[in-house]
Amino acid sequence: MSHVSAARPGPHVLAVAKPSPLLAPRLNATFNVHALDPATLAAIAPQIRGIFASGESKVPAELIKQLPALEIISVMGVGYDGIDVAAAKARGAVVTHTPDVLNDDVADLAIGLMLSTARQLPAADRHVREGHWPQGPMPLARKMSGARVGIVGLGRIGQAIAQRALGFNMTVAYTARSAKPALPWTYLPSAAALAAVSDFLVVITPGGAGTLKLIDAEVLAALGSSSPQKGILINVARGSVVDEAALIDALEQGVIAGAGLDVFENEPQVPERLRALPQVVLTPHIGSATAQTRQAMADLAFDNLQLGLAGQPARTPVPECRL
Ligand code: NAP
Repeated sequence: MSHVSAARPGPHVLAVAKPSPLLAPRLNATFNVHALDPATLAAIAPQIRGIFASGESKVPAELIKQLPALEIISVMGVGYDGIDVAAAKARGAVVTHTPDVLNDDVADLAIGLMLSTARQLPAADRHVREGHWPQGPMPLARKMSGARVGIVGLGRIGQAIAQRALGFNMTVAYTARSAKPALPWTYLPSAAALAAVSDFLVVITPGGAGTLKLIDAEVLAALGSSSPQKGILINVARGSVVDEAALIDALEQGVIAGAGLDVFENEPQVPERLRALPQVVLTPHIGSATAQTRQAMADLAFDNLQLGLAGQPARTPVPECRL
């Protein structure tokens, strides 16, 4: 990757995220890849035809406006809430992402966080590792099989979570922007209504303005009222979807029983108050982070970039950019 305009062949691509080692060799062999650097951006901007981004990248309108030759923004991730799609379209550029190939991993992690939180797996590991077992058993945990799961966002990943929950004999209900009459699960019209009948509330919507703090104090209070045991929140969507301050209050005050969180408002910073809570299981945004899935995502992101820069239709444009 170079920081200045190079004399290599191939279209010029701006990498706003560091390309994964699974992708970097092919990117560098095919394109003139430039790291985003404010010091050199003005010099290379007129030549930039593609952007490589990750699911957490920010590509604001101010950046897009500086790139008159931009044709494609290829996101290696399914979420693209950091990309100003309207500005890209106004520039005539297509935005692509990597849906479906990560459904299994993110759904697996959601189930893993449900089990980890209910059965206190991190605490159980510490109980053995730190030598507490000879002094006595752990407190009893909570059963997951047969419980009620409410899924907030029944899209590609939400449906994969529902399928897995059936294997645990769970009762599945959901909320989304619209009901899915073809699917066998119960639709509820709001996150609060769903939380009130859920032992586990699993959040798996996109981020962005449409879902900002969708899980607020009212939803958490409803989750707390769902049973005498109180409900558990799982978030594998985006940190922005949950009001993190309200969540910490709810956990500290015992309004809900616990939480399993893969995503946070201000990653990679996680508030000390949250990290101090024993009833919370925390993972560092690893929903799609297996070698197999990251390879599939890298392949799809590369194909999209290559096709787009060859003037051909990309494999997986975001819905707003589909013809
Ligand atoms: P998807 O197929 O587009 O599904 C999104 C679902 O969210 C749809 O059911 C949609 O409702 C629903 N939704 C959208 N806005 C909503 C709102 N305001 N209120 C309630 N429901 C709403 O997306 P996906 O492929 O399943 O991915 C979902 C998200 O997961 C991604 O956007 C990304 O942010 C996140 N993700 C996280 C990780 C991780 O590492 N933790 C990895 C991958 C993805 P309709 O069906 O009615 O439109």
